[in-house]
Parts: sequence; structure tokens; C-alpha cells
Amino acid sequence: MTQPHLGSPYYKEPGPKLDAESPFESMMERFRFAADILGLDEGMFQYLSSPAQQVIVSIPVVMDDGRIEVFEGYRVMHANVLGPGKGGIRYAPDVNLDEVKALAAWMTWKCAVVNVPFGGAKGGVRCDPKALSQGELERITRRYTSALIDMIGPDTDIPAPDMNTNEQVMAWIMDTYSMHARKTVTGVVTGKPILIGGSKGRREATGRGLVTVTLAALNKLGMMPNRTTTVVQGFGNVGSVSALLMHELGSKIIAVSDVSGAYYNANGLDIPAMIEYSKANKNSLEGYKGGDPITNQELLELECDVLIPAAKEDQINKHNAPNIKAKIIAEGANGPVTANADSILDEKGILIIPDILANAGGVTVSYFEWVQDRQGYFWTEERVNRRLNRMMRDAFNLIYGVKEQHNITLRQAAYVYSIKKVADTLKLRGIYA
Ligand code: NAD
Repeated sequence: MTQPHLGSPYYKEPGPKLDAESPFESMMERFRFAADILGLDEGMFQYLSSPAQQVIVSIPVVMDDGRIEVFEGYRVMHANVLGPGKGGIRYAPDVNLDEVKALAAWMTWKCAVVNVPFGGAKGGVRCDPKALSQGELERITRRYTSALIDMIGPDTDIPAPDMNTNEQVMAWIMDTYSMHARKTVTGVVTGKPILIGGSKGRREATGRGLVTVTLAALNKLGMMPNRTTTVVQGFGNVGSVSALLMHELGSKIIAVSDVSGAYYNANGLDIPAMIEYSKANKNSLEGYKGGDPITNQELLELECDVLIPAAKEDQINKHNAPNIKAKIIAEGANGPVTANADSILDEKGILIIPDILANAGGVTVSYFEWVQDRQGYFWTEERVNRRLNRMMRDAFNLIYGVKEQHNITLRQAAYVYSIKKVADTLKLRGIYA
């Protein structure tokens, strides 16, 4: 038998991370806490902590130089109790099944929190998009889609963009699925270009929803947005829109960062200028001169009213949590605060608007997009934004009510509400035998 050569991408079962601060462990720790409060029985606990379906596919692709390279792709459906699965697809060199499982479960709770009729799913392809040509990216996407053709669909599981995937990737998925179906099926993915069935307002939806719940939180603390300071980590889709809307509401944005570093100005940064700069500079703030350079670590520990971590997971952990000085943390990213950091921040009296609520604006407008695709009738941006604001405000008030009722944190309340909703639905539906 020939031995696989070194560095060969032969299938290898990805093991769970042993680090207790892994995203899946963080999710499970919060799940267990909420399950205890709800008195969830053992069987229901098992059901809701096990993904309904986990698929690993090999994606052979002919590269531009003629070589065949095999990539590994994942799709996990955590639960489809409330409706079809819903969740993004991320392309990254380090994406793994453990991470995708955690993110899929997160989607179940997130959809339940904002009351959209979807279950939770997530997908990923282990690849380095920066090292791939556009043609290679398209071939990976199309082959990945065809491998999942029996799993995804407008009534079963509806992907969307996530880290390193975008409207173009969604257009390829929609086209590949439609070619197999022998008809155009726009509702198979959300986050599409508007020209092929995307929704107005989708691009800004996550940042807009985040700012809506941040305003609601400021209101609870008796604070006016135009007398606040804000710090934003990450200047991509979520970070830049959140920063811009907070800026427009009169908040002083004293620091923002991206992967190139952090930029600080005590008098407030010029956010529209930074967005222009980043656009003209390949989506990077590298070399921006309108603020003093600081590190991402220093940025997180700045004294401010609102801190918006909108880059990636595990940014605020047990090591830096004691130094965080914000009054409100609105989680733009998924899992930017680890479970270990939660209790430290709670003791300091910091109000955390949890990811499954704070960044649910994206899935809410994805739901609107799916509704519009199925109706074949498209809404104005004003209608999209108005309905988004209403759903986010309602969700915040609902979860705040649960927080007060049980005297728990907003995060715990979000899990208690969403797990109860899924468990109650499951009890009504019963277990199919
Ligand atoms: P993006 O790729 O558009 O932007 C990510 C930003 O984070 C970039 O500016 C990048 O430079 C920066 N970044 C990366 N690593 C960093 C680091 N170590 N320190 C500081 N900055 C860093 O991604 P996005 O769509 O804005 O998503 C960001 C987060 O929000 C992810 O966790 C994603 O899962 C989550 N999220 C996104 C959406 C959405 O609709 N886009 C919805 C819900 C949740």
C-alpha cells in the first residue's frame, strides 16, 4: 500500500478541543446552567445537546495549476424543531467540526431568541481563501454545495454567509442548487446579492440590530447615546456598521480595531472617514493616521460605556476579564466572551448583551429575505429596517423580562428563554418513533 505523502489532506477525524475555553464547551456550560434553572429532564437534555445531523465531506478540486486538492467541508444541523436549519458557512484554515457544532447550536438558540421560525445549523470548509483564486473558490463552493445537495434546501436547511464567505459565494450556492433542481430556487440561501433575490438592508442588518439592542440597554441604565463613549473590536461587516450607527447617534467612538491593530482617539474617531479608508485599502485600516496606534488587548481594556467585540471568539477570557472597564458589552461576534470570563464580568456589574441576542439582526433579515423569496415580493429598505428594529426591541424586552423574573444575567436569560421555547415545542411535537 502506498503511504500518503506528508501534508496530504486525507480525511482525519477532528477531535474536540480539550481546552475548557473552546467555543463548544462555552456553549455547553451556558446550556447546562439554563437546563438546571428550567429543570430540564435528562432525556430532553440529551436531545437538545446532541446535533441532529453532522456531515463531513471531502471536496476534490482541480486547482489552477492542474493539481487535484481535497478540502474538508462540514455541515451540522443542530436542531430543526422550530423549522428548517439556518446558519452560515465559514471558510477558514482552522475551521473544525467542534467549532461548527458549537456555532450550529448557537444558531438554534439565536433563532429562538428573536422568534424566527428556524432551527440551527452551520457549515464550514477548511481552506485558506486568501491563497485561492476566484476560480478555485468557485469550484470549492460548487462541489461543497453538490455534496450537501440532499441536506440543504429552502424547506430543510438554509445556509448564509459567515466568516470569509460573501454574497458571491451565496450566488454560486444558489446557482448550483438550482442547476440540480432544474429551476431557480432563490430561497435555498440568504445573504444573496439583491439582483438574485437578496433583501435590502441585509448587509447592515447585524450591526443595525446590535445598535437597536444597545440603545435598549442604555435606556435601561438611564444613559443617553449621545453622552456615551464606544469601543469597537473588528471593522468588518458587523464592526463597521455598528461603529457608524453609534457614531450617527452621537456616541463618541474612541477606539476601533481590525486585524492590523487598534486606533485610539480620545476626542472621537471619524468613522465615515475610516470606512472610506478601509474600503480603499483592501478592507484594512493598516496605516490609518487619524488615531494613535494601540494593541487590540489595550483596546479591550479601555474605559468606555459600550464595548462591541465584533471580530472573533474568545477575545475576552479569564485573563483579561478583570481589566475590562466597559459598562455594557454588546457581543457582535459569536462567542467573544468565554464562559469563564462571564462570572468575572458579572461580578464587576457589566451588562453583557449576549451574542445570541445582540447579533441576531443578521438572521432576522435573513428570515425576511427567505420570506420575500418565497412570496416573490420584495420589501423597501425602510420596511425591512422598521420590522428589524421592532423584532430586536421586542426580543430585548422579552429577554430582559426573563432576566428580572429569575434574577439572572441577560445571557442566562437568553438561554433559559430559547431552550424553554425549543423544549416546549419538542414536547408538543413528541418524539417520532
Ligand atoms: P468580517 O470578516 O467582515 O470582519 C471581521 C473583522 O475582524 C475584520 O475587520 C478583521 O480585520 C477583524 N479581525 C479579525 N481578527 C481580529 C483580531 N484578532 N483582532 C481584531 N480584529 C480582528 O466578519 P463579520 O461578518 O463582521 O463577522 C464578525 C463576527 O461577527 C464573527 O464572529 C461572525 O461570526 C459574527 N457574526 C456576523 C454576522 C454577519 O451578518 N456578518 C452575523 C452574526 C454574527
